[in-house]
Amino acid sequence: MSDKNFETNAIHNQINRSEFREHSVPIYMTSSFVFEDAEQARALFADEVPGNIYTRFSNPNNSEFIDKLCEMEGCEAGLATSSGMAAMFISLASILNQGDHVLASRSLFGSTHQIMTSILPRWGISHTYVDIMNPDEWEGAIQENTKMIFVETPSNPALDLIDLEWLGKLAKKHDILLAVDNCFATPYLQRPADFGADIVAHSATKFIDGQGRCIAGAVLGSKEIIQKIRFFARHTGPSLSPMNAWVLSKSLETLAVRMDRHCDNALALAKHLEVHEEVECSKYPFLESHPQYELAKKQMKKGGGLVTFEVKGGIDRGRRFLNALKMCSFTANLGDTRTIATHPASTTHSKLSDEERMNVGISPGLVRISAGLEHIDDIIADIDQALEVSK
Ligand SMILES: *Cc1c(COP(=O)(O)O)cnc(C)c1O
Repeated sequence: MSDKNFETNAIHNQINRSEFREHSVPIYMTSSFVFEDAEQARALFADEVPGNIYTRFSNPNNSEFIDKLCEMEGCEAGLATSSGMAAMFISLASILNQGDHVLASRSLFGSTHQIMTSILPRWGISHTYVDIMNPDEWEGAIQENTKMIFVETPSNPALDLIDLEWLGKLAKKHDILLAVDNCFATPYLQRPADFGADIVAHSATKFIDGQGRCIAGAVLGSKEIIQKIRFFARHTGPSLSPMNAWVLSKSLETLAVRMDRHCDNALALAKHLEVHEEVECSKYPFLESHPQYELAKKQMKKGGGLVTFEVKGGIDRGRRFLNALKMCSFTANLGDTRTIATHPASTTHSKLSDEERMNVGISPGLVRISAGLEHIDDIIADIDQALEVSK
């Protein structure tokens, strides 16, 4: 681990220069690497010496990206993946065996929910969902065969939090692995491993890239856990391309400045919406009105880039509001330089029943905003005019 600060490591942790003495790291677009001789080839395959063999296993760009992210998260080892979902899937599938049970927060990312409910049961791996806002339910839901706890905090799109310190202790007490999808917070705002998380998984597609260019993911943890995950990934193949790894390593150089602006814009927008007469309520972890404001301040550096609010007038008004936006993008992503608006009830969570939606905090008029890096006055002006037009 480096003795320098987060922002400095993000820039200066990079692979060695080549003979050309380039300042910016090149992209190693190669599928394989040439052995020096028969002995080195043998030693590489026997894991006796470090080095690259084949890009499905490792590549200098992937290593740079992941080493930087490990330093940021305070984790020993990690692995870059071709998508966030590949990261979530291998976090579960590399570790769990037939007969194992997972305890998970109910409000999971849609595809993670599908892995739990439709894919893992095919291999005899069961799960129980617990309410993120009812910590008392958790301990009672632990079974003899519970091997892993899997959570997201803040949750999507309700922006509810789980107390990571409490959860880390619960997992340790019962000798269960704790896995955290840290995509919404990023290591700049929250480091789950500091609270005892064994696995930290990311969709790097969101704030880590931060510019809407690539699909990618990462899994981080102890050397021991990552060794298991790496074995699974090496033989099943969800590796990240060197090109995308290069983009992401560059993105990490600016993560801190971008997150500061995302968070500042999101907080200013949440405060503006909180008192807006066309808005029922607005929610943001660093708003004093958030029921877990104190917890947010304890485990997060700032409140993150997402804000939700309830437009007066329900589902139809929510849809009219989105149609009226001029600058903000209406797209299925988050964590971009551009401010993005989504209406979960009619898009990402439309397959759930009304009751299931209410259980995970999605009311009909709920709008989710991913605050971008534009000037806050322009973001607010666009949202205000769309609230006016959609009346
Ligand atoms: C987007 C997202 C994922 C999935 O990541 P992809 O890169 O789209 O595969 C997983 N978890 C959370 C919280 C996400 O927002």
